[in-house]
Amino acid sequence: MEGGASNGAADVEDIMIRNPVPWPNGAKCAAAITFDMDADSILHLHHPRTSISRISAMSMLRYGPEVAVPRIVETYRKFDIRQSFFIPAWCIENYPAAIETILEGGHEIGHHGYIHEDPNRLSRDEEEYWLKRSIDAIVKATGQRPRGWRAPLYNFSNNSADLLIAEGFTYDASLMGDDVPYLLRTAKGELIELPSHWGLDDWPPFVHSMDMDYEMQIKSPSQGLEPFRQEFDAMWEHGGLWVGVWHPFATGRLARWVEVEKMIEYMLGKGDVWFARMEDIAAHVRACIDDGSYEPRVDRLPYYEEPVCPIAMAGE
Ligand SMILES: [Zn+2]
Repeated sequence: MEGGASNGAADVEDIMIRNPVPWPNGAKCAAAITFDMDADSILHLHHPRTSISRISAMSMLRYGPEVAVPRIVETYRKFDIRQSFFIPAWCIENYPAAIETILEGGHEIGHHGYIHEDPNRLSRDEEEYWLKRSIDAIVKATGQRPRGWRAPLYNFSNNSADLLIAEGFTYDASLMGDDVPYLLRTAKGELIELPSHWGLDDWPPFVHSMDMDYEMQIKSPSQGLEPFRQEFDAMWEHGGLWVGVWHPFATGRLARWVEVEKMIEYMLGKGDVWFARMEDIAAHVRACIDDGSYEPRVDRLPYYEEPVCPIAMAGE
């Protein structure tokens, strides 16, 4: 196991992660801060009839594209890193200045639904329609098709993988099944999965909104970021993939972003970390699979063809 060489344990197999990816230039881990720029899409979806009179909630969410995104992109420029933003197509159409700022910085724009609709509440045809309609919006804004997708609310459906494969996506970023990239395989083909999990999501520590029916005890900036740092340390130690799932309106707020800059400094200061856009990580993983230097775990989808709980079934 090559990744353990620096701590003098080259001969001891690291069993925490059995198949670490050979990251570029011998990096110990890959890291990507991904921002889901949902803006007020989520409010209109949650309260379709009353959202437009919920001015305070809208102002909280619009802080993302209006105030936080320029700040975030400026920080990335300072550290000379390129990262990924997943953006509902409706937000792409409604916040052109934020989109321009993101593109000027060389960052990736990934697919995140049309108006943050939940794929598990849509028929297959509806999911396909909004997927395609949003691809068109991304092509119009960026000049290229999206390479990656994150399901709104992480709600990847039993149809999602096949639809993404049919549209030529290379990766998904919605699932939580491993510490390293793995493959999703269906009868139609395969996708690279770049996983994360709720422990790397900023809603639990930083979001409190009665309008969104989401009431949490907000953490201080440093307390809220501490779990992300611990997650990073573990990935760095064992060769994993660290993917923060953050939101401009939440982590992009001033005091939190001041702490994030310190955290990025800490992460880069550890050395041997590959900060990259998700599309670059997916392309690297694909190249390693193709040249045989990485053998990923494979998840076959769907996990189940029909409901499986016999006790619940008997009661129906
Ligand atoms: Zn989202």
